[in-house]
Amino acid sequence: MTAKIIDGNAVSAALREGLAARVAKLKAEGGPTPGLAVVLVGSDPASQVYVKSKQKRAGEVGMNSFEHLFPETASEAELLAKVDELNADPKVHGILVQLPLPKQIDADKVLERIDPAKDVDGFHPVNVGRLATGGPALVSCTPLGCLILLKRELGDLAGKRAVVVGRSNIVGKPMAQLLLRESATVVIAHSKTRDLPAECRQADILVAAVGRPEMIKGDWIKPGATVIDVGINRVPGAEPGKTKLVGDVAFAEAVEVAGAITPVPGGVGPMTIAVLLRNTLEACCRQHGLPFEEIL
Ligand code: NDP
Repeated sequence: MTAKIIDGNAVSAALREGLAARVAKLKAEGGPTPGLAVVLVGSDPASQVYVKSKQKRAGEVGMNSFEHLFPETASEAELLAKVDELNADPKVHGILVQLPLPKQIDADKVLERIDPAKDVDGFHPVNVGRLATGGPALVSCTPLGCLILLKRELGDLAGKRAVVVGRSNIVGKPMAQLLLRESATVVIAHSKTRDLPAECRQADILVAAVGRPEMIKGDWIKPGATVIDVGINRVPGAEPGKTKLVGDVAFAEAVEVAGAITPVPGGVGPMTIAVLLRNTLEACCRQHGLPFEEIL
């Protein structure tokens, strides 16, 4: 069997198209223009690339984006003051503080200062708590992107056995909560899990969020399972001096066993920014007392 390849580029493009139509309708009806503020501290090249592409994508769907740049030497007090200002700004519906932050700044303190209603990354403890207790929450972008891919692929997830490998606060834990919310039977595996291959072989849905290149082998996968590979790992390429990206799943083996699988790159990765914009629209609608309906 050769697995169906789940095309994250195509799904994220459809999500952005749907968002653009929603934003245009909102504006045409005299409603607000959703606004995303991005705060970047320092000059880390990877962070700069992420921030630029977030802004570009926001513009493409008709949203406003506001960039706030700070030098590497910025103080925690300066950053907290900026968050306070953005919390109070009615043109800003979503606030994203690009991580990592320099060591003199306590990232948790900054993230907890963001108004939970504007926390489009879904990292604030209020949103994390609401996700766990079933309330209306802004949900971390990467796991929500994975859930969108899974629901489009499988429809109803109720009763399916899901194994999430990884328990980080930004991917593994919220992913498990989302799957539980869909009434899947969820196992969370991590570095202390005994016999990880045996746990994975039970999974109808296998989500890998580990950060270890190609750790999950083809013979760990139940035939026909749906595999979501969140991992992004840069490894040496075929030619000397060149590198390539691989996931946490040994794709060439897994594709022969799974029913459907996300590739790396081109699977989960492109979903993250599209979901950030989806969250910005949701935050905008809720702040203005407008209904928000799911796009995909
Ligand atoms: P973290 O390093 O925060 O978490 C990794 C998790 O994997 C931990 O829970 C750890 O367990 C577990 N783990 C590590 N080694 C093993 C092992 N040998 N067996 C079982 N479990 C293990 O990573 P993130 O969650 O932040 O990211 C995971 C991957 O996803 C990375 O490759 C990252 O680049 C990628 N990523 C991709 C995104 C996207 O947009 N596509 C966004 C965010 C992340 P323990 O808790 O016991 O230490």
